[in-house]
Amino acid sequence: MDIKIQKKEVHEFVKKLSHVHWFAIGGFLILAISIGYISWYGYHRFQDLSGQIVALQSNLASTSQNFQNNLIQTQKNLATNIQQNVGDIQNKLGDYQQQVGNLSGTLNTLQKLSKTDPQLLEKYSKVFFLNENYAPAELVEIPSDYKYSDLKHPQLSTQVWPYMKRMLDDALAANVKIFVFSAYRSFSEQSALKGQYKVIYGSGTANSFSADQGYSEHQLGTAVDFITSGLGGQLDGFDATASYNWLIANAYRYGFILSYPKSNSYYVFEPWHWRFVGVKLATDLHNANQNFYDWDQRTIDAYLVNLFD
Ligand SMILES: [Zn+2]
Repeated sequence: MDIKIQKKEVHEFVKKLSHVHWFAIGGFLILAISIGYISWYGYHRFQDLSGQIVALQSNLASTSQNFQNNLIQTQKNLATNIQQNVGDIQNKLGDYQQQVGNLSGTLNTLQKLSKTDPQLLEKYSKVFFLNENYAPAELVEIPSDYKYSDLKHPQLSTQVWPYMKRMLDDALAANVKIFVFSAYRSFSEQSALKGQYKVIYGSGTANSFSADQGYSEHQLGTAVDFITSGLGGQLDGFDATASYNWLIANAYRYGFILSYPKSNSYYVFEPWHWRFVGVKLATDLHNANQNFYDWDQRTIDAYLVNLFD
């Protein structure tokens, strides 16, 4: 009974719905489906776009990292290249400075050589001859404190005197007295002296201890005969004095050598006769335990540039 009534009520309700109502319902359904579709499509599209954005972000990050890496590498390469170039330039500058240094060294050597009298390192003895017109460039008289007798006026090369003075001052500071007995002798003075010796000793004996004019180191102005107190004004016996021993041990430091040592083949032993040859040559001779006249002239000439160093 109740069901029948309900069916009847529904049927009546449907009959009551006009065409307008059906149209409205249809419209509503179409709208609902459309909204559903649009939502579904929009959702998937959003998902796609999100994925693309993530991919783009990832690409961007990767590209940015690569760019940074490249930039750092480029900076490093650039810095390395600059350093290499600067290094090359510095090397070249160094080479140029070296060349300029070498040239100025050569020029300096030439200037020194042009100002240095080559005769000052020549060997003069029975074999080697010095021109009769030769005279030292400049002479200075040895002050009275350094010479043996006020009656004599020994002169020495002006360039050599500072070395001599320092040597004699240092000897005196060590309580060793050394005096200059004679120094420069001109060609004619040497000639006169040799003449006197020949008269006194005969030419054979005189030749063994006194050089002929032109062969004497005394004409150079760089050689001296030393004496000390206690010998009665004689040169003989000088080798038995403390002065001689001090000179043997120290003279080379001041550029002086013993020209005619014991058992030399040029003259008799002359312990009093010392010649300036420069500190370098005197030192090398001393260290080699050799004598000036034992070395050949070419070896000795190489020291000319250092004569007054
Ligand atoms: Zn002498």
